[in-house]
Amino acid sequence: MKLTLKPGREKSLLRRHPWVFASALNLSDEILRSAQDASGSTVDLLAPSGSFLARASYSPHSQIRARVWTFNDEPVDKEFFRKCIRAAISLRSKLQVEGQSDAFRLIHGESDGIPGFVVDRYKDVLVLQSTTAGSEFWKEIIADLLIEETGIQTIYERSDADVRELEGLKPITGILRGTLPDSQIPITEHNLKFNVDIAHGHKTGFYLDQRENRHRIGELSKDREVLNCFCYTGGFSIHALAHGAKSVISVDSSGDALKLLEENIALNNLPADRHTTLEGDVFELLRKFRDAARSFDLIILDPPKFAPTAAHAEKASRAYKDINLLAFKLLRPGGILATFSCSGGVDAALFQKIVASAALDAGVEATIIEHLSQGVDHPVSLHFPEGAYLKGLICVKSSQ
Ligand code: SAH
Repeated sequence: MKLTLKPGREKSLLRRHPWVFASALNLSDEILRSAQDASGSTVDLLAPSGSFLARASYSPHSQIRARVWTFNDEPVDKEFFRKCIRAAISLRSKLQVEGQSDAFRLIHGESDGIPGFVVDRYKDVLVLQSTTAGSEFWKEIIADLLIEETGIQTIYERSDADVRELEGLKPITGILRGTLPDSQIPITEHNLKFNVDIAHGHKTGFYLDQRENRHRIGELSKDREVLNCFCYTGGFSIHALAHGAKSVISVDSSGDALKLLEENIALNNLPADRHTTLEGDVFELLRKFRDAARSFDLIILDPPKFAPTAAHAEKASRAYKDINLLAFKLLRPGGILATFSCSGGVDAALFQKIVASAALDAGVEATIIEHLSQGVDHPVSLHFPEGAYLKGLICVKSSQ
């Protein structure tokens, strides 16, 4: 099938952005009818002049109607995907992430040239997430290729992200290849152990994108009283305790995550008497701590995605401001705030503005000492700025 771009709407493809919105395409009734059965199949994208622009997958139900596989006039087949997978594996080997952890992202969707596919490696198991009609179309072939190219025998599927709904796809989870005796996999990150539940945990089981930041903030935790908000299975808490934090309070609304956190403390022989687990809502807890005049030396805020897209930015900004304002109040003079946003709809500049206005309203002076982002195994294609979703700031509250 060939689809032609409306005049002027070919510009983003010429800049090599991989998404084509339905509004940019000339979709005649005839094309729409035949495309109904073409979910995920490969289409040619043509300029209004008729010249070839790209080869893409077709998503009949999504506003993002096509996602580019290649800007070259080449076949999209098993060997094409083998090349993409080899490039992704080769990049990871150059980044030396395997020296820091036996769990890392092997394929990061658009940024690795394979839109719709995320593949994370947890030791000898791959966890695959497919989110688009195109990735669904090629899933079995990609699974075969992953086994051929990595030598790993087990692939577990976690295609249960909400975004699949926009593509008209139902959630699918379970074993895709091989066998899995236990859904909990003990991984090592910077010499610390974590039990990851790939079947029931969030995303593919672990927030791999925070690996470097957990290590960095761990280093800053020595002798400090730490409050880790939105702690999940304890990533930042374990690193903080291992680096000699005086005490750590970990807060999350998920009881299952907190259970794993406690297992992870034991797994690393860390001093449980320096740690407190609190199950509850961070927004409420920060207020309780404020009313009780509690204070901390280091506060970590790593909330879930408040703004999946720019349309949610305003509401999300209020939520980010709320928790950052309360955190600034709870910090002792000279204390450190490590604050994150993984919202695609809030970019780094807006996030910094929100944190600045939180400090202003809290009546505190603070300086940024570090800008943080996602780990190197989550690369960002220069042509796909949306790939840069995680941003973090380490701020120091003035000691005056
Ligand atoms: N920092 C973690 C990842 C945090 S993910 C790590 O390094 O592994 C965000 C977490 O926020 C999830 O565990 C989710 O259960 C929790 N959460 C979401 N809303 C919450 C709320 N209102 N109060 C407390 N926890 C919340």
